Amino acid sequence: MKQETVLSVAILTVATLLIHSASSKPLLFESAWREALRRNFVAAVEGLEHHSVVAVSPQASPLAAQAGSSRLRGLTCEVCKEVVSFAQYWSERGSTHEQIEKLATTTCIYLGIETERVCIGIDEVLTVFENLILSPDEVCGILVGSECGTPYDPLANWNISLPDTPKPPVIPHVLPKPGAPTLRVLHLTDIHLDSSYVPGSKADCGEPLCCRANDGKPDPGNSGAGQYGDYRDCDTPLWTLELLFSHLQAKQDEFDYILWTGDLPAHDIWNQTHSSQTELLQMLSTMLVKYFPNKPIFPSLGNHESAPVNSFPPRFVKGSQSISWLYDALADSWKAWLPEETMTTIRQGAYYTVSPYPGLRIVSINMNTCNNENWWLLLNMTDPYGQLAWLIQVLQKAEDNKEKVHIVGHIPPGITDCLKAWSHNYYKIVDRYESTITGQFFGHTHKDHYELMGCSRP
Ligand SMILES: [Zn+2]
Ligand SMILES: [Zn+2]
Repeated sequence: MKQETVLSVAILTVATLLIHSASSKPLLFESAWREALRRNFVAAVEGLEHHSVVAVSPQASPLAAQAGSSRLRGLTCEVCKEVVSFAQYWSERGSTHEQIEKLATTTCIYLGIETERVCIGIDEVLTVFENLILSPDEVCGILVGSECGTPYDPLANWNISLPDTPKPPVIPHVLPKPGAPTLRVLHLTDIHLDSSYVPGSKADCGEPLCCRANDGKPDPGNSGAGQYGDYRDCDTPLWTLELLFSHLQAKQDEFDYILWTGDLPAHDIWNQTHSSQTELLQMLSTMLVKYFPNKPIFPSLGNHESAPVNSFPPRFVKGSQSISWLYDALADSWKAWLPEETMTTIRQGAYYTVSPYPGLRIVSINMNTCNNENWWLLLNMTDPYGQLAWLIQVLQKAEDNKEKVHIVGHIPPGITDCLKAWSHNYYKIVDRYESTITGQFFGHTHKDHYELMGCSRP
């Protein structure tokens, strides 16, 4: 069963294109590519050398055109269930992990039937599923949604324990007296720097990132990418960031410290590697030091800093898939602003706490522990990295010491990108320590907004 499940998932993207070939139902695909893909697929699973995937434009893919709410773009419930059965057939023929992975990755990218992250990170997905034993119903419940099957949700029921110390009575906030000392904060988030931005290029190219030389000229009647950025499918040019930082440098008397809540790279996630990500992290950290040499900066980790994007393995994953490459790089960059005692938890799970001013404590948390695109969380990880248990300890100590706490992170809890079970436990903690936590700052949504949190008090 375990082997079958692995292969079921592995060949999903490929087999989706093939399953109707022996069925009386209408064919999903043009016969030319179906036949070409069938040949490629058979060659791969039978151990023949696979040189290239049939060249078909992603835009021509019927599946790509059906993009909907499914976690796998274009995958319908009916197709998913048929694919799983089909995959089991191949697994019984002894197909190997490598054979399947090779074809699945390239076909997935070429045909655009998947998000690029999953295409590139197919090996990661396989590794996760190798550790799970799932029925086709559960597989499709995950991949398509609960309307398709009973979703396997290892995080559905876990509860973090709170200390026995009773919650102190909640005293309404008293506003500081006029003239009382204040601290002002600059919040930077989601820089998404694009070093290859080209003004005047096509800004709506149909891909996750446009505005580059290879996107060509805009269609007649459409304007090209703006000189300093564009609200269409573009990221931030370097000169815009330099201008922003110069402006802020001139205004630096108007803020005391900086919160920097992640998402540094552009959206060309298919090009990103461990070294490109760490180089960018180092470059932006160096820029911030250069422009704001005297400002404390408190960073947190975004979902785009990893490669593949959204991939944040647990600590027990070692070797080539270990996340140490990133967390060690964070420690190396962030030590420009953070004291030595924060390094242990940064290397362990990309979170830390520091008290930069008497009475104020900042806690930076790694919100990829609730990121619903982080496949590693399927490995039944309750409280990844022990971060929430650690948060409770920090908050209890802050309460005992009468400190106020600001929490900083990337993905806001409560939005659909943050898993419900984690959000539930986080809310429970915030509710317990509501008199201690006086501010929470997040990024990720690319919008200015605030969130109301429920509480147990009437
Ligand atoms: Zn972002
Ligand atoms: Zn983000």
